[in-house]
Amino acid sequence: MTPNPTQSPYPQVPLDEALARVAARAGRLPVERVPFEQSEGRILAVDVCAREAMPPFAASSRDGYAVIASDGAGSRRIVGDAVAGAAAAMRDGTAIRSGEVTRITTGAPLPAGADAVLMIEDTEPAADGHVVLLRGVASGENVRPVGQDYEADAVLLSAGTRVGVAALGLLASSGAVEVDVYRRPRVAVLSTGDELVEPGEALAPGQIRDSNRFALAAAAREAGAEVVRVSSIRDEEDQLDALRGASEEADVVLTSGGVSMGHRDLVKPWLASHGEIEFGRVRVKPGKPVTFARVGNALFFGLPGFPVSALVAFELFARPALRAMAGDPRPERPRVVVRLAHALDHAQDRDEIVRAFAWQAADGTLHARTTGFQGSGRLLSLHEANVLLRMPAGAGHAEQGASALAWVLAPLGRADDGGTPRTVAADKAEVHEGAVETSAVVAHAHGDA
Ligand code: AMP
Ligand code: MG
Repeated sequence: MTPNPTQSPYPQVPLDEALARVAARAGRLPVERVPFEQSEGRILAVDVCAREAMPPFAASSRDGYAVIASDGAGSRRIVGDAVAGAAAAMRDGTAIRSGEVTRITTGAPLPAGADAVLMIEDTEPAADGHVVLLRGVASGENVRPVGQDYEADAVLLSAGTRVGVAALGLLASSGAVEVDVYRRPRVAVLSTGDELVEPGEALAPGQIRDSNRFALAAAAREAGAEVVRVSSIRDEEDQLDALRGASEEADVVLTSGGVSMGHRDLVKPWLASHGEIEFGRVRVKPGKPVTFARVGNALFFGLPGFPVSALVAFELFARPALRAMAGDPRPERPRVVVRLAHALDHAQDRDEIVRAFAWQAADGTLHARTTGFQGSGRLLSLHEANVLLRMPAGAGHAEQGASALAWVLAPLGRADDGGTPRTVAADKAEVHEGAVETSAVVAHAHGDA
């Protein structure tokens, strides 16, 4: 048996280079045709055009009377009814003539001969099937002309669009029964570790409950993936076949743990012999041991075991890959620039990803403070965060008021949040003014992963 090396054979790749290598491998998946109502959240692969103009007929936008505008105000004979969903029913003739009106409801087609609608509030009932128009209207008033919203054959939604709520409505009204969208990536999630037990189990000495598997599966689903397998394996050679199975059935495999330097960290060696490792370490904190490989047709992200490291590495590397595979032309999280609400010490030798809470002050400026102790195991620091700050390697210190780049994970706080996450729990004191520098410094002393 060869002794375990004390130095990693994998060079630390700069963060931007690692991100670029992932992006280069994360191509769009094939296109599939789905019923339009199942396309929510998906990315359109083709332009969607309107079959008919909208509205398809000149339609009233009011309840009232369809009139001939040039007739002006006065008493008029009611010769028919135009109700939504049908052509106007005329008591005689096919078009209204001077001196005549029809009742009309919102959305009903304008009867032939009429060119405007007077709303019912501007009329008074009269005897003998008549109505008094209290004022005149301009031609076209309260009428939605054919094609006011869009013309027939117009491109309503272009390829690359994410189907959101309004887009789904447009698909329905366009008459598209099925749409072509990019396939969702299939994801397998496996946690590794002899110390892991199921969430419902009591802990024996040395054991912890597996949380990564569930958090990573949720993160993958949130990113638009279809999670096809969620399981856990022990740190034994004979368990690693599960990785092969996962790589065969999934487009993307996410593992947690087993990528560090311990003699039971078996994921990297397995990847080295069963796939192509693209990078085995990244100059980033947390997440340094993250490993990106190809196994067969699958992309493989070997994420570190510490819960924050696993999820931050997912955010940095796996999430953009999943979004790109799902066809999203803008796979990254939105980015904003925030001002630090306090001085911040951070890693000098690598880019540090700091969990922070950002809020918009009354004057519109964005501010952020860390969510307290930044230990890689402290999942609360991520739970309370709505942004990830990217603090560049080099200085190791940022002054209060300095600008920082932030990836937005969740809605920003409001001015009246006063910079305090709503969900502050155990370490309430730490997120208050003054205490944060200390906790950021403490984070330095913490483990590598
Ligand atoms: P590893 O990267 O395998 O050395 O794991 C580092 C540490 O992360 C372990 O000692 C555990 O404390 C923690 N950890 C590993 N896997 C999990 C998991 N699935 N859920 C929660 N914590 C984990
Ligand atoms: Mg482990």
